[in-house]
Amino acid sequence: MSNLSTLLERNQAFAADFSSADLPILPKMRTIILTCVDSRVDPAHVLGLELGDAVVIRNNGGRVTNAVIEEVATLAFMVSMMGGEKPILFELVILQHTQCGAERFADPDFQSAIQTKLGFDVSTSAIHNHEQSVKTDIESLRNASEIPGNILVSGLIYDVKTGKIQEVVAPKQLA
Ligand SMILES: [Zn+2]
Repeated sequence: MSNLSTLLERNQAFAADFSSADLPILPKMRTIILTCVDSRVDPAHVLGLELGDAVVIRNNGGRVTNAVIEEVATLAFMVSMMGGEKPILFELVILQHTQCGAERFADPDFQSAIQTKLGFDVSTSAIHNHEQSVKTDIESLRNASEIPGNILVSGLIYDVKTGKIQEVVAPKQLA
């Protein structure tokens, strides 16, 4: 049973009154949201994003991995080429959440099961403590030499039980 027909029907409804053909490539809010793949934490809903507002990067946990560092560094390069140098290149918001699947990665048995079955090391994406994970991830961005310092970074935790967001780290320039 595929959901494709439902999804395509929804697209038809979306396209019926489409009026976003002239959106620029660079997001209007000059913002990147890094968040979890969890279906309950869709930033379009949780943060009220409109089409064209922000770039969204999602992975397990919304963690800063090497892949995310490469992605952000590439985007920063593109923005500086396309948008010209500005005092602040763009803003990056890390949005992690309660009841995250990445908390399971903190379980050593689960870690070794994934290592054995799939050959992946998920220990670096494990969430032991939500506030600490957000702070660690901002440090990882700060320590990444590929990422320019003129990016404004903040860290948030979304509570899936209340829909509310707690600001863990206020917006601050990386360097
Ligand atoms: Zn999650």
